[in-house]
Amino acid sequence: MPEKVLAAVKVGPATTELREIELPDLPPDAALLKVEVAGVCGTDVSQYKLPLRGAPLIMGHENVGYLARVGTQFAEQKGVQEGDLVFLEEYLPCGHCEWDHMGEYRHCAATEWFYDPNAIRYGYTPVSTAPSLWGGFSRYIYLPLNAVLHKVPPGLPPEEASLATPMSNGIQWTLLDGGVGYGASVLVEGPGQQGLCCAMAAKAAGAGCVIVTGTSRDVRRLEVARALGADAVIDVEQEDALARVMTVTGGRGVDVVIDCTSGGSRAPVLLGIEATKRRGGTMVIQAEGSAVFPDFPIGRVTRKGMTLKSARGHSHRAVELALQHLASSRFPLELITTHRFGLAEVDYAIKSVAGEGAPGAIHVSVLPWK
Ligand SMILES: [Zn+2]
Repeated sequence: MPEKVLAAVKVGPATTELREIELPDLPPDAALLKVEVAGVCGTDVSQYKLPLRGAPLIMGHENVGYLARVGTQFAEQKGVQEGDLVFLEEYLPCGHCEWDHMGEYRHCAATEWFYDPNAIRYGYTPVSTAPSLWGGFSRYIYLPLNAVLHKVPPGLPPEEASLATPMSNGIQWTLLDGGVGYGASVLVEGPGQQGLCCAMAAKAAGAGCVIVTGTSRDVRRLEVARALGADAVIDVEQEDALARVMTVTGGRGVDVVIDCTSGGSRAPVLLGIEATKRRGGTMVIQAEGSAVFPDFPIGRVTRKGMTLKSARGHSHRAVELALQHLASSRFPLELITTHRFGLAEVDYAIKSVAGEGAPGAIHVSVLPWK
């Protein structure tokens, strides 16, 4: 008799149902992950509200768990065994393109349905794609041979390991893309889990001055930013943010801006352009979907000799560095991992990240066995 897997399935915009999904037979080149923690990402908030792209799906792309069943070929080729605690990347790369050989799976066409409508990515793939178990808001996840696994360092609890996605983005955007290093001054806009991980990455890299901005509803998050090492925090609704950045940096401006306000909206981008130093600053921006900026001040960017980079996902190396960072015990991660919910509460968990559920949420975990 086939076993059934309990999963929270998104059946429509902002609608989730608990369903049982048949556990697949496991070929020798596949494995099954028993999900311990699935982190709720900021992008889950916007994705959750969208119409389905075809069939229902299991969301959850920040996944940590134990390898419960491992096919012989999978074990041999991946160097893993049953019982290993691993972090699973959301990407399922083709394995043979130039990007995959560099560990830059986020650029692989096989991980992007903009290029390939049949692309599979954890947390975004409909249950109509066999064997359905493609998301972390479920007790098990199916792992084909091209799944990308990172072993969790000994001593790092699964819930803290589930910060590997925002932390690897933080390291990618702040250090690897933004070039932040010893003595740098950095403005991080937005104090959510992503911004806080950027601030931690900057401090760990030796930044001399890290400034974090938020709004008046972010009072607690800005306190956490201070506890994680931010040198200054700014409530942009209460203060003149640009004037404050200039005061904190002695009138110089910052070397690097990381926009983690997640919309690519006007005010943070304009603040970032003005807050960078007179010449040669760098700004790393993220904006999803169809964001437009009709009067973008390109002349100002040119005059300041700025470099603009776009933040999108993380490399294999950034994830390895993130797991080392999280295991280092140098930062009070428990201030970020604020909430945990069971499978029946996935809807509320996502709403909590959106600021419409449990108060005070920063990083929210779904524990499918809770
Ligand atoms: Zn590829």
